[in-house]
Amino acid sequence: MTTLFPTPDFPTIPVKGEAAGYPVLRIFCVGRNYAAHAAEMGVEVDREAPFYFTKNPLHTVLSGATIPYPPGTGNYHYEMELALVIGQPLFRASREQAAAAIYAYGCALDMTRRDLQLVSRAKQRPWDTGKDVEQSAVFAELTRAAEFGPVGEQRIHLAVNGTTRQDSRLSLLIHSCADVVADLSKYYHLAPGDVILTGTPEGVGAVVAGDVITGGIDGLAPISLTIAAAE
Ligand code: MN
Repeated sequence: MTTLFPTPDFPTIPVKGEAAGYPVLRIFCVGRNYAAHAAEMGVEVDREAPFYFTKNPLHTVLSGATIPYPPGTGNYHYEMELALVIGQPLFRASREQAAAAIYAYGCALDMTRRDLQLVSRAKQRPWDTGKDVEQSAVFAELTRAAEFGPVGEQRIHLAVNGTTRQDSRLSLLIHSCADVVADLSKYYHLAPGDVILTGTPEGVGAVVAGDVITGGIDGLAPISLTIAAAE
C-alpha cells in the first residue's frame, strides 16, 4: 500500500568492504555496563543481567555529521560505545549462538539529555526524553566481526576538541557482547536490522555548541560528531 504522507527510508550504516549498507530497524542500548561509569552515575551495577532502553532508528546519524544542540536540555552528554549488529534470526539463544549471530562491530555515540534522564530516574519514570533524542544515535562505518576478531583488550576512547575524556578497554564490559545478545533474545526475536549499543565507560560529560567529538576503538573506523548552535 502506498503511504498517505512522505515517509523516510530506514537509515543504513556503511560496512567496510561492502557496497550495501546495514539497515537500522531497531536500536537497543545497554545501561551501566562498565563499573566505573555506574559509579560516576552514583548507581549500583547489576551483574545478574543487563538492562535496556531503546532509541528510534530514525534518530540515526552517521559519523562526520554536524547536528544542532538539541532542544529541552542544558546538559547534553556524549557516551562513547561499542555497537554490534545482528546478522541472522535469533530467539532464546545460547551464548554460542549469540556470538555467531553478531555480523559486525562499530563505534557509536549514545548522545543523552543527562538532565532529563536524571530527573526521570529520580521520579522512577521512563528515560525516553533523556535517551530517545532526535539525531542521538551516531554510527561510524561497521567492520565485519570476522575481521575485527575477539572483543578483548581493545582501547575505547573519546575526546572533545582534542582533549581525551573517556579512555577504557572493552575487556571491562560487565556483560559481554555475546551475553547481551543472548539475554536480549529472551525478550525479542532478534534479526538483521537490530543494532545494540553495549554501554559507555566512565568519563561522560557535557558538550556545547561548537564542540567536536572524536572517538575510536582499536580495530574499528573512528567516529566524529560536531555540535552546532541550537535551532
Ligand atoms: Mn549509553
